[in-house]
Amino acid sequence: LETEADKISYVFKVVVIGDSAVGKTQLLSRFAKNDFCLDSKSTIGVEFQTRTVNINSKVIKAQIWDTAGQERYRAVTSAYYRGALGAMLVYDVTKRQSFDHVARWVEELRAHADTSIVIMLVGNKADLVDLRSVPTEDAVEFAENQGLYFFETSALTGENVEQAFFKLLEEIHRVVS
Ligand code: GDP
Repeated sequence: LETEADKISYVFKVVVIGDSAVGKTQLLSRFAKNDFCLDSKSTIGVEFQTRTVNINSKVIKAQIWDTAGQERYRAVTSAYYRGALGAMLVYDVTKRQSFDHVARWVEELRAHADTSIVIMLVGNKADLVDLRSVPTEDAVEFAENQGLYFFETSALTGENVEQAFFKLLEEIHRVVS
């Protein structure tokens, strides 16, 4: 009897990084469980969530890691990045500082992750239209300069969350196959 595990062609480890409170945990739970939890507590102890998807007729298990709040203490260790094929680098479109820190997160990835890691820059909380402080064009320009993919998302409404994760997984698949 063929089981779910037999059909899986690849397991892709993806790390979610970015400043505190930009919505990393909510994006992850939106993608993994299609869920949004309004009063999300800061993440403690959760290592990763998974979702199995079809990409180019291959069954791929995405294993998506959350920093479990460690980003607050700059304690994201190389173990977190080890084996990661993709990264979701998240900022908050209403918090300029979280975008200004994106360059540092890219350096962190370049220092600790595999050189072929695929990076998706994500401007989250796009639903907060009146509070926006990071223009889309600024992020587009940064992403182009750094060779990153880019989406604006809302973990609250679900806008572009699937698109951002699927694009990342497709690009990883292109790299590994
Ligand atoms: P993390 O520290 O980066 O993991 O951030 P969380 O996922 O815990 O989210 C921080 C806060 O932002 C929580 O109060 C969330 O409810 C809120 N939040 C997360 N994503 C969104 C979003 O897309 N839109 C809005 N309006 N709020 C969000």
